[in-house]
Amino acid sequence: MKANFHTHTKRCKHAIGSERDYVLAAIKNDLSVLGFSDHGPFPDKDYGSRMDFSELNDYLSEIDSLKTEFRNKLKLYKGLEIEYLRKYETYYEELKVKYGLDYLILGEHMYTDIDNQIKNIYFANSTGDYIVYAKNIEEAVSTGLFDIIAHPDLMFLSEFSWDKNCDKAVSIILSAAEKYDIPLEFNANGLRRGKSDFPDGRRYPYPHERFWNELKGSNQRVIIGSDCHIPDLVYDNECIKSLEICTDLGLNVIENIFEV
Ligand SMILES: [Zn+2]
Ligand SMILES: [Zn+2]
Repeated sequence: MKANFHTHTKRCKHAIGSERDYVLAAIKNDLSVLGFSDHGPFPDKDYGSRMDFSELNDYLSEIDSLKTEFRNKLKLYKGLEIEYLRKYETYYEELKVKYGLDYLILGEHMYTDIDNQIKNIYFANSTGDYIVYAKNIEEAVSTGLFDIIAHPDLMFLSEFSWDKNCDKAVSIILSAAEKYDIPLEFNANGLRRGKSDFPDGRRYPYPHERFWNELKGSNQRVIIGSDCHIPDLVYDNECIKSLEICTDLGLNVIENIFEV
């Protein structure tokens, strides 16, 4: 069975293709499960790189109608990839209950800093920020409202040398995933960015080998996420390569978050 739960659409304004385009691409690639997880809006503010809040209902009803139309071809799920920001504490439950989302992917790009300001991990000032970031992930999963932690090693896209803060941040994230039994995503979109030179060697920005090596021998559930922003990439070579890397490491790879 082939599945992908990390799928964007043009609604986030930095992807191409409609929901239908991704469904057709998924069928072409023999997927039997496709989950939509476009970048989720916040009700009161546009933080950019995401769908407008006014499009949320259209997005969900479009997936509902595709679900019926293609019910004999593949199974569709309605989700969003969204940051956990403390000030929106009640919103995540509303997304699931009132809006009927099947799942939420925690895609922590922005996070709440110790001074309560919203920061972006793409612009970390030091590896000290990784610890605050990791604690945000821990707080998010403790709500029980998230179903996958996307790119849990996203922070390593910054160009800092590996130090004890990195070890600590990784340990916070892995412990939280284990404690709340939530799958970690090995993100194929990081591989698409290619390898480049970092202070700790030539590597992908993420996934970071050192992070995933920590999971060797554990039973932690891992899921491959395409994180496609182009329909043709819904299950491309980088997804296959991601699966190979995880298999070589002996990780517990799952395909479907709804099947135990
Ligand atoms: Zn993301
Ligand atoms: Zn994404």
